[in-house]
Amino acid sequence: MTAINFAVIGYGGMGSYHVHNIMPNENERIHVVGTYDICGERQKISSQHDHKIYRSLEEVLTDEAIEAILIATPNDSHKDLAIQALQARKHVVCEKPVAMNVQELDEILKVAKETNKTFMVHQNRRWDPDFLITRELYKNQQIGDLFQIETRVQGANGIPGDWRHQQKHGGGMLLDWGVHLLDQLLFLVDSPVKDVFADLSYILGDEVDDGFIAYITFENGLRAIVEVGTTNYTKLPRWYLKGTQGTAIIQDWDLSGEMVIESGEKEIQAPKPIQAGVGLTKTMAPPSGEATKTVALPQGHAEYGPFYKNFYQVVREQAEPVVKNDEVRAVMTLIEQIFQAARK
Ligand code: NAD
Repeated sequence: MTAINFAVIGYGGMGSYHVHNIMPNENERIHVVGTYDICGERQKISSQHDHKIYRSLEEVLTDEAIEAILIATPNDSHKDLAIQALQARKHVVCEKPVAMNVQELDEILKVAKETNKTFMVHQNRRWDPDFLITRELYKNQQIGDLFQIETRVQGANGIPGDWRHQQKHGGGMLLDWGVHLLDQLLFLVDSPVKDVFADLSYILGDEVDDGFIAYITFENGLRAIVEVGTTNYTKLPRWYLKGTQGTAIIQDWDLSGEMVIESGEKEIQAPKPIQAGVGLTKTMAPPSGEATKTVALPQGHAEYGPFYKNFYQVVREQAEPVVKNDEVRAVMTLIEQIFQAARK
């Protein structure tokens, strides 16, 4: 096994996380030769580690020892860096969002095709345990046919960092967490998008969105509510999933939660009316005790290998990529639809 020699462009939060937390898990397949960052301070921090420090992009791209590049820089720089790396005959792993829009992505894919080099986007949240549980539920119909998915991430700390506040750098939360949630949704649901309704929020007064709600319906009738918020002092569940035979909640990344499903009992009493505020309701009463049971969430599992193992297999063994570029393109297309719907 010959490891793929990588150079990392952008040694900030995510670039350094790749170098120290993700790539070492595949150290037989992936070897980090060095890093390049335009910021002197980040270069200095990187130089404390046992890898080479490149002083310019040109030095990276002309290094024949380098087979692949990881791009972990702000979003507006992905396209140019990706094209230059591909033209220098390097394979490329690019952080999400792949680019600022579909047109930029198409420009990258054209060069990837011309140069016959692998271009793969790091959609790492396809491996998140909470997502894998949702996927298990969906595929095995453990709460019947899923007809509504609510997927949310809610913070209370505003938009992080510096460039994420600026439009020119591709800031805003739709291009940040939005990409993850929409990628998971499209990877999950085996049906084309039919309609999109969306609203972006500007609560914090930034020029970019600090959150959004998108209401997406699919051709098969399934609907999804996708929400990202950065001003939530307490949160709604990470996932709320409604099926024809049950409802599931995954509270958070700690994977706490449960499924309430039909019990299968034959003799079921009609639900009794309950006092609701100053009124009475039978419609909104809980189902009678014997009608449902509460069970633990299933275990999630990925039937595909980890990201960098897959990247290695794509490059060395012509394997199928787990993250396919047409899927990435579908997510960027949906993001454009959401921006457009919000403008309306
Ligand atoms: P960051 O600001 O922490 O780091 C970016 C680094 O890139 C900085 O050190 C900066 O100096 C450097 N840089 C900027 N332009 C450069 C250039 N032209 N050449 C070389 N270096 C350059 O940002 P971050 O949080 O690490 O985000 C970087 C990318 O990673 C973004 O696209 C972001 O969306 C993505 N990201 C992905 C995940 C994930 O879970 N997949 C998580 C966080 C960030």
